[in-house]
Amino acid sequence: MSATLDDVIDATLDPGAGRRTPPCARAYVADTIAFSDVDGPGNRFVVFLQGCNFDCIACHNPQTIPGNAAAVEGHHPHHMTVDELLVQIRRAAPFIRGITVSGGEATQQAPFVHTLCSAIKANPALHHLTCFVDSNGACATAVWDDLEHVVDGVMVDLKCFDADIHRTLTGQPNERVLASIRHLAGLGRLYEVRLLLVAGLNDDAALIRATGQWLARVDPAMRVKVIGFRQHGTRPHDPPLQEPTPESLAAAAEILRSVADLQVTVI
Ligand code: SF4
Repeated sequence: MSATLDDVIDATLDPGAGRRTPPCARAYVADTIAFSDVDGPGNRFVVFLQGCNFDCIACHNPQTIPGNAAAVEGHHPHHMTVDELLVQIRRAAPFIRGITVSGGEATQQAPFVHTLCSAIKANPALHHLTCFVDSNGACATAVWDDLEHVVDGVMVDLKCFDADIHRTLTGQPNERVLASIRHLAGLGRLYEVRLLLVAGLNDDAALIRATGQWLARVDPAMRVKVIGFRQHGTRPHDPPLQEPTPESLAAAAEILRSVADLQVTVI
């Protein structure tokens, strides 16, 4: 009997449930934004961590990919402490609903994410803030087991459901991403799955349908955001990557809505 996709995903799962994250008070921070309304629910303080385990051809922040901050000319990430970030978050606190840790890839510095979110939850002046993570999902599921106690929701970018196209887009396989989506949904921490569509690469109707069918099996009422690729900020590519039209994004959303009760939005 041949293995199903879920068997393949299961094979990527790492032992380690119950492992505790050691505290980590410092991280490479690419940038912070005091107020953002596109990085999770409501107005949010966003921390962009430096370093990513993907190398997406459609990356809008390629300066955040190298783990070594000094590797990118003109980009100056800071080695920041949790306490330094808390000072900034306290200033923004009256005007925000929560914080989001993004990247780069936030889970590359998961112990720091855990320490920062723990500090917010433990601080009487801040514990009303929700803590969210924006992730490419390519980490061990044990990372989410650690973070679930201090993180309220996770946005996962699914670059492509098709394994080969995913590799073309990111340089990496997608099994861990799919495992993260499934695992986070089981933990009740999956806030949203984001699909960045690049015209002619990952917007095929049959592929979108298969993606929706798998997502609906994980959670029929999943929140799914369809995002159109924009060339602004990306690296040159040969041939140039193409932006999808508003009509093709709307068509993709309709396909997803037709699959189940997926809550689909388009931006
Ligand atoms: S996962 Fe995000 S930050 Fe990392 S390379 Fe891809 S688009 Fe860029």
